[in-house]
Amino acid sequence: MDLKLLKSMVEIDSSTEEGQNKVIDVLKDYLSKKANKVKIIGKDRKNILAFFGDQKSKNILLINGHIDSVKADKKDFKFNPFSLTEQDELLYGRGTGDMKGGVFCSINAIVKASEQKLLKNKLVIFAGTCDEETGSDSPYGASVAVDYFLKENLMPKACLIPEPNRFQQPLKINLGHRGLLWIKAISTGIKMHSASFDKEDNAIVNMMDFLTELRKKLSNQPKKDRNGVPSSSARVTSFVCNNSEFNVVPSMCESNLDVRISPFDRNKDVLKLIQKTAVKFGVKIEVLKNTPSSFVKKKERIVQETILACEENGFDYEVGYSSATNDAHFFNNAKIPTVVGLGVEAKNVHANDECILKKSLQKTEQILFDIIKRW
Ligand SMILES: [Zn+2]
Repeated sequence: MDLKLLKSMVEIDSSTEEGQNKVIDVLKDYLSKKANKVKIIGKDRKNILAFFGDQKSKNILLINGHIDSVKADKKDFKFNPFSLTEQDELLYGRGTGDMKGGVFCSINAIVKASEQKLLKNKLVIFAGTCDEETGSDSPYGASVAVDYFLKENLMPKACLIPEPNRFQQPLKINLGHRGLLWIKAISTGIKMHSASFDKEDNAIVNMMDFLTELRKKLSNQPKKDRNGVPSSSARVTSFVCNNSEFNVVPSMCESNLDVRISPFDRNKDVLKLIQKTAVKFGVKIEVLKNTPSSFVKKKERIVQETILACEENGFDYEVGYSSATNDAHFFNNAKIPTVVGLGVEAKNVHANDECILKKSLQKTEQILFDIIKRW
């Protein structure tokens, strides 16, 4: 396997806007020689689309990958994170798993299918998009691709996103992910001596009561009747107040809440519930992030073809949900049924010494190739 393209991508620090544009340039150089047409889209930030196969066909399959990665500090890594290093069947480097490995396999699979003339009566589009790692809610990345498809009347029939797979685990076929609300809650009360006989209006207690009631309402436990679809949850990730004196009741308390919303609930409804509960305890709410959930039905063709491709290759697989958000919601909510997963087997994603199992590149390429062939 020629790893040159993967190597060139890993050598670029794509945690920055400048780096992401550089990766797009590398892909443009490569894809211009292989695709029927290449297009750079986006006003302020670059994204790339490469078109393969029958340009007139409406039987369109999209394979999308984000080309950005999270930050890496050289001093925390065993090897240089911006150089592809092989050791003991592993390939080290920032973004090898999340998800330059998946991008590399997608391009290889499409190019191979195109060279073998397997793209009659279908149009396969590769989309390399930016700015996913900031919370999958960017106006610069995958959403720009969706707008382009709508405008050009090129809506794909389905989409695959080969985000990394768990290390040495069955291939994961993800039907969706939960939505996200990042909420800052601010509770106020009356500052007073804590030994006072006066009635207290305690900012901390108000906040605790609010959090307890809210968490009860949004249970952390998956509900059995929802057929494996994860349920909503609210986790408290920070709790601070404006006081360090032992004998003083503070006037202000702040808490961050990471709320995840089941595809069966709606962000709008959950937000209303949070607001209503907040009013009850005199707590103020600020919404810092609001990302919708993503969901594709198991009976959709893309899911079925993916399952069949796994079975025909004898690859173990599991159908489930991604724990974190990703770009799938942009496509699914635009009525492009989208499956996430099948990516390379990765360790230390978003952490130090990110690496992938080298031979899993072949596996991912094979499965993507088979789905393209079947499409
Ligand atoms: Zn990712």
